[in-house]
Amino acid sequence: MKAAVVNNFSQDLEIKDVSVPELEYGDVLIKVHTCGVCHTDLHAATGDWPAKPNLPLIPGHEGVGIVEKVGEGVKTVKVGDRVGVPWLYSACGECEYCLVGKETLCPDRLYSGYLVDGAYAEYCKAPGNYVVKIPDELDAVEAAPILCAGVTTYKALKVSGAQPGDWVAIYGIGGLGHIAVQYAKVMGFNVYAVDIQDDKLSLAKKLGADKTVNSAKTNPDESIQNDIGGVQAAISVAVAQKPFEQAYHSIKNGGTLVAVGLPSDELPVPIFDTVANEITVKGSFVGTRKDQQEALALAAQGKIKANISTESLDNINEIFERMEQGKIDGRVVLKISE
Ligand code: NAD
Ligand code: ZN
Ligand code: ZN
Repeated sequence: MKAAVVNNFSQDLEIKDVSVPELEYGDVLIKVHTCGVCHTDLHAATGDWPAKPNLPLIPGHEGVGIVEKVGEGVKTVKVGDRVGVPWLYSACGECEYCLVGKETLCPDRLYSGYLVDGAYAEYCKAPGNYVVKIPDELDAVEAAPILCAGVTTYKALKVSGAQPGDWVAIYGIGGLGHIAVQYAKVMGFNVYAVDIQDDKLSLAKKLGADKTVNSAKTNPDESIQNDIGGVQAAISVAVAQKPFEQAYHSIKNGGTLVAVGLPSDELPVPIFDTVANEITVKGSFVGTRKDQQEALALAAQGKIKANISTESLDNINEIFERMEQGKIDGRVVLKISE
């Protein structure tokens, strides 16, 4: 089968023929129709996170396809089902986190397209218990970005503590951020969108953002504090340290910074202000299978529509280059097979 393979960090991925994965107990084989390109895949290919993936690696964790084969022990999906392969490849099912439905915190969790080969390929395998059923209302292209960008931002907003009518700021209107704007509106929040590029802010406006600020031209935290007195929650999905600091300083007393983007920097926060203003700083990591169902259900109702351009797997290196330069509007979805 054809796949895009990371052989060495910071070198082009190789488009090559590799063998179709062999199923182990509990696995299903999926014929991949589409896969979204997440910035995490670029982190995987450059190896810039503290915990690096093992190489060679096939990235991809927004895969959508049809189950073509089920292995021994699979009870929850059958041949012909349309499923998604998300970031959470598997978890143990038994630990203190798994037992309460917080499987994304499982110490034994595995990640698709990072610790295990993912969906930048004509076929991939995944445990039947951890693939996600795709609602009929969504086609394979529309569904792909919901599997990571969608669920991640939906869950980050859910844990932000913001209530309908509150202001939230979204820092970084890329693949995740432009979807975050839409979930935030569905959840009844007022949205302040922040990016360093005007075209990203125009997209945010089109998708319902109430206000925008270009942080390359104006200090965004000062503007937000002066304009509305700060936001209840700020979600940073940008891949740099500065927007995290700015997001922190846009919050009003009692508010929350939700860290979602994954630059490999430290986050300096002032202890005095955090204590005296009762600020919460929290991380949010993808979403559980239940969060996936909810995020997909909102998309199936037509309320969340990613701004998608479709491309071929052969173009992956050029797509990564554009992503690095911030030249993608929304999400790229690879069309891998019919
Ligand atoms: P992307 O490249 O599509 O978007 C990044 C956006 O940030 C772009 O719009 C860019 O213009 C903007 N940006 C860059 N510098 C900025 C700055 N200084 N201030 C404001 N905006 C700035 O990336 P993506 O696919 O949306 O992923 C974003 C990050 O989220 C990546 O680090 C990725 O690994 C991470 N991620 C985290 C989770 C999680 O579970 N926490 C899940 C998926 C992705
Ligand atoms: Zn992702
Ligand atoms: Zn577990």
